[in-house]
Formats: sequence, C-alpha cells, structure tokens
Amino acid sequence: MSFDFDLFVIGAGSGGVRAARFAAGFGAKVGIAESRYLGGTCVNVGCVPKKLLVYGAHFHEDFEQSAGFGWTYEDVKFDWPTLISNKNREIHRLNGIYRNLLVNSGVTLLEGHAQLRGAHAVEVDGQRFTAKHILIATGGWPQLPDIPGKEHAITSNEAFFLDQLPRRVLVVGGGYISVEFASIFHGLGAETTLLYRRELFLRGFDRSVREHLRGELSRKGVNLQFNADIARIDKQADGTLSATLRDGRALEADCVFYATGRRPMLDNLGLESVSVELDERGFIKVDETYRTSEQSIHAIGDVIGRVQLTPVALAEGMALARHLFRPDEYRPVDYRLIPTAVFSLPNIGTVGLSEDEARSAGHRVKIFESRFRPMKLTLTESQERTLMKLVVDADSDKVLGCHMVGPDAGEILQGIAVALKAGATKQVFDETIGIHPTAAEEFVTLRTPVGA
Ligand code: NDP
Repeated sequence: MSFDFDLFVIGAGSGGVRAARFAAGFGAKVGIAESRYLGGTCVNVGCVPKKLLVYGAHFHEDFEQSAGFGWTYEDVKFDWPTLISNKNREIHRLNGIYRNLLVNSGVTLLEGHAQLRGAHAVEVDGQRFTAKHILIATGGWPQLPDIPGKEHAITSNEAFFLDQLPRRVLVVGGGYISVEFASIFHGLGAETTLLYRRELFLRGFDRSVREHLRGELSRKGVNLQFNADIARIDKQADGTLSATLRDGRALEADCVFYATGRRPMLDNLGLESVSVELDERGFIKVDETYRTSEQSIHAIGDVIGRVQLTPVALAEGMALARHLFRPDEYRPVDYRLIPTAVFSLPNIGTVGLSEDEARSAGHRVKIFESRFRPMKLTLTESQERTLMKLVVDADSDKVLGCHMVGPDAGEILQGIAVALKAGATKQVFDETIGIHPTAAEEFVTLRTPVGA
C-alpha cells in the first residue's frame, strides 16, 4: 500500500519538530500539522517567554544591588507593555526560524487542525492524507480545578499576554510554574501571594532546596501561604477578584493565576477513530519505543506525560525518528539523571536523587552542604544566600544527587549533570580544581559531611 507520507506528525512543538526534521533528514517523506503556533508551548507560552520575563524581573534586584557598586539612578521605572511587545517580537522571530527549519529540511508544513481518521489517515482542515506512521506530539494544556469562579482565573497561557501588570496577584500551585511566575510577578513589582495546598511547595525536590527557597522568597517579600487553597473566586463590580479560601479566609487580588499542572492536549483529535489507549491519568499510553496501542501511531512529549520537559521531548523525537527510519542507529532515551532548573529568583538547579529519595532507595548517604552569601552581593544590602548540596553514597562514594539554589543554578548544574552521568565519585569532585572566584567552585571544595 502506498501512502502520502512515511510519517505524519501532529503538533509542531519541540518534540514534533525534532522528530519531523530528523525523519526527513533520514530520507523519509514527512508531513507536519500545527493549528496554533510553531514551536509549541516552549517557544510560545513556556520556557522561552518565561525566561525572558525572568530576566526582566531580575533587573529589579540588579538596579538595587548596583548601588553598592557606586551606581545611582533617578526615576527607575518598569513598563510591562514594552516587555511584552519586545517578547512578542522575539517569539515571532523564533516562529519564523521554526518554519524555515521545517521547510528547509523538506518537511511539508500544514498550518491547520489535524484530526485522526483511522490508523493511517489524518484530515487537516478538510484535506485527507495517508501516512505509514503517525506521530501524536500535541503537548499539554494548563488544567484548573473545577471551582466556582474559575473563569475569572488565568493560566500561564494568558499571563504572557496581559495588557498590564496586575497590582495584586494570587498565584496558585506549588510546582515549577507557580514559583517561577511568583518570582516574575513579584520581581516586576506586583504584590504577590503564592498559595499551595500542602505544607511546603516543590514536592519531589530536595527538602533543603524547598526550605531554602521558602526562606529566600519570603525574605524578598513574596507572601507564601502554605496549607492554603482557594474554594471559590468572585468578581466584584469594580473588577477586583475575591478569593475565598477553604479555611474561610478571603483574599483580594486583581489577578488569580493558576499553575496546577497540565493535562494532555487531545481535544478534537479524532481519537475515537483509532484504538489509542490512555493511561489512568488520561495521557497517551506508549511502549518503550513510543508506540501506542495502535501499531502505526506513536506519541512523544508532554502528551505521554512521562517527563514534561522540552529537552526530554527533543530526545524522544530523535529516538523515535531513528527507531522508525534508522533502526541501526537507534538508542533509547536514558531517563536517568535528567537535570532540571526552576527559574525562580533565585534559581534552582538539580540533578539526581534528593536526600530523601537516596535514603528511601536504601543508600547509606553522606551529605555535603554549603550555604553562603554570593560574592556579588557582598557590597550590597542583599542578604540572599546560596545553597549547594551533594548527596553521596557512603559506600561507593558515587555522587547520587546535586542540588543548588542560587544565581545561575541552571547554568552550573548542566556541567555537573555530565559528571554525574559519567558516574563521578565524590573523590573525582574533590580532585577537580576549582575556578576561582566563582560560586560553582564550592561544588569541588565541599570537605566535611554535614550529616550521615
Ligand atoms: P506541576 O505538576 O509542577 O505542579 C502542579 C502544582 O499544582 C503542584 O504543586 C500540585 O500540588 C498543585 N495542584 C495540582 N492540582 C491542584 C488542585 N486541584 N488544587 C490545588 N493545587 C493543585 O505543574 P506546573 O503547572 O507547575 O508545570 C507543569 C509541568 O511543566 C512541570 O511539571 C514541568 O515538568 C514543566 N515545566 C518545566 C519548567 C522548567 O523546566 N523550568 C518550567 C515550567 C514548567 P501537589 O504537590 O499537592 O500535587
């Protein structure tokens, strides 16, 4: 049977574009459909614009701290519409780059909504195509709890396009997006309250990291409310939002921002025409080669709900393209030791096991920690402190986890992740010469365990 395409990809986000380009590079005839924006969540309403806003928020502290170095300014002002329009211009440029990358690699780009019409068929805005393989890479979408007044709340999708910076913001959730946006809103000048339903945010991260960030955010003036959750939101006549908490308290705000996780984007996808099974959380179920329960259909990225990170989707896209079209070169994605950063202010960088995870996995651990005031702040009023922590297996000396809260934590942890992937022991860290004076050198000068 002959098909219009060897591979048809639904969704031109990080994973879909990577799979499409690699497959085309391997000589496959590839089509890709995108109904919203090229580059997906990461480029349009995720990693990239978020990082730009984080940079914007950081200037607040930079201006304040520069006084210690002799700088004075008059009339420092921040203009949200300027930041947003410059950000939009940059995203538009990146959309163009994505278009060129696809077209130049020979992929047929269809800008429209794709629906499955069987195991080998897809329809894009009324046009039908057949394909030997279909890849679902439709990503995720913010999800909000079903509370009265949820229509008054926004998510990250809308926050990137607000006309004005709200004066008072309630941020709900205790994951990546909530701490990042709490830092952004606060840094840019909004009165910011973060509400999280349990005792301490960033569940799953190392406890020292979570506690350290709690201290730093509170010191900066973010109002942290733990064991707090919103039961309903009402809009008053003047537009003010009133959030009633489950414990009966009421908080007023101009914006209620929810970051309570993301669901798979399967809306209107035509899944009823195929036998693609979902897991108990509603994500697409795949085997180790990303094959769904429908033999000809694969899925990667956020829609499979494994690890919702862009670099993971990229790795999955490459692995799948090789698996389908260059099987000799196929190497499965290694999901161990995935480094990650949270771009809160200060940043978190982490790779490997938290102390609790290491202990629960049966390791006898040695913990090395350093807490210090970064050199850059010594001439300033800022009391911000950096945390660095190594979790080491006491028997093998292998470094199991590495965690940091402080400036450039993401940048620093990328290199450390290579060391951990290579199986570095604490002795290897100790024998590595530091780069002086940096914060990162602390990781190779931690001598005395703080706990065992
Ligand atoms: P997360 O899954 O990280 O966090 C969701 C948070 O919302 C948790 O604290 C959770 O609480 C809470 N929550 C869930 N449901 C409810 C509810 N019904 N009521 C109140 N609170 C609730 O989701 P995010 O939305 O922050 O981010 C989605 C994913 O995107 C992340 O997991 C991450 O993989 C990715 N991401 C990565 C970034 C990066 O690499 N820097 C940046 C942004 C996103 P509980 O702990 O109790 O479950």
